[in-house]
Amino acid sequence: MNQMTAAPAVPTLPDAQTVTSVTHWTDRLFSFRCTRPASLRFRSGEFVMIGLMGDPDPKTGRSKPLLRAYSIASPSWDDELEFYSIKVEDGPLTSRLQHIRPGDEIILRPKPVGTLVHDALLPGERLWFFATGTGFAPFASLLRDPETYERFERVIVTHTVRDVAELEYGRQLIESLRTDEMMLELLGEENLAKLTYYPTTTREASPKMGRITTLLESGEALRDLGVESIRPETDRAMVCGSMGLNTDIKAILEGFGLEEGANSDPKHYVVEKAFVG
Ligand SMILES: Cc1cc2nc3c(=O)[nH]c(=O)nc-3n(C[C@H](O)[C@H](O)[C@H](O)COP(=O)(O)OP(=O)(O)OC[C@H]3O[C@@H](n4cnc5c(N)ncnc54)[C@H](O)[C@@H]3O)c2cc1C
Repeated sequence: MNQMTAAPAVPTLPDAQTVTSVTHWTDRLFSFRCTRPASLRFRSGEFVMIGLMGDPDPKTGRSKPLLRAYSIASPSWDDELEFYSIKVEDGPLTSRLQHIRPGDEIILRPKPVGTLVHDALLPGERLWFFATGTGFAPFASLLRDPETYERFERVIVTHTVRDVAELEYGRQLIESLRTDEMMLELLGEENLAKLTYYPTTTREASPKMGRITTLLESGEALRDLGVESIRPETDRAMVCGSMGLNTDIKAILEGFGLEEGANSDPKHYVVEKAFVG
């Protein structure tokens, strides 16, 4: 891990925010924090469009912003914003974004939206977060929000990745909830006792291997977690992964009788794509 920190500079781009720290987790993953526009209000779990100025058009010489959807990984009460990002080698944005340093500017359109919010779920007893890869980002926000624990008696977060190193951002974040004095005071020990972390890997050996879908279908995940069954009366879920994961988990949840909700029509579970493609 390699962390850099700097004092914020004065923004100059339209919708510019200043990067305050960058952490590289693997050669494919990094996270960064930046200043938060004073006017930006959002609900934990929502996403915004962020990016950089694109290369100048060879004909006109003009540059346009190159923007992508990003879940806000920080909670709604945080003074700064945090993002957790993939590095796509030939990706138009992330081939460049991965080189940002403290003091650099990014563009952030302050229009948060999304379905992974408490408002889109009916009250329940148990809340599941199902994430693969960078799909952990919205849950990094929700896991730091006291509302998550106030609304539910148990919170289970599953994170499936290929290699162990890809768990590290999430693992450290969850550990910090219990070790960071400020987080402990904000969330409370009693609330944190409600949280169960269930990481799995699909390629590199780790204590729990396999796709979460396979582990759910075989009943292994429920046995490990001491859950008898997933039921519409008690269970609520938020899902954020690849198209494949989202489709498969949806089918599993529907099989248990859960129905998909939305901001305007809260129900038992909600889904959002972690990326397109
Ligand atoms: C609602 C929503 C929220 C998102 N939140 C995040 C986030 O919090 N963090 C994040 O890193 N990305 C997130 N993304 C994806 C993001 O918008 C970009 O696709 C990503 O930053 C890569 O941009 P790019 O221009 O480099 O490549 P793109 O041209 O956008 O993507 C190129 C290819 O890379 C792959 N890819 C893109 N993003 C990912 C990813 N996150 N994980 C694995 N493979 C990927 C896909 O196969 C895609 O076709 C989100 C997407 C959506 C729709």
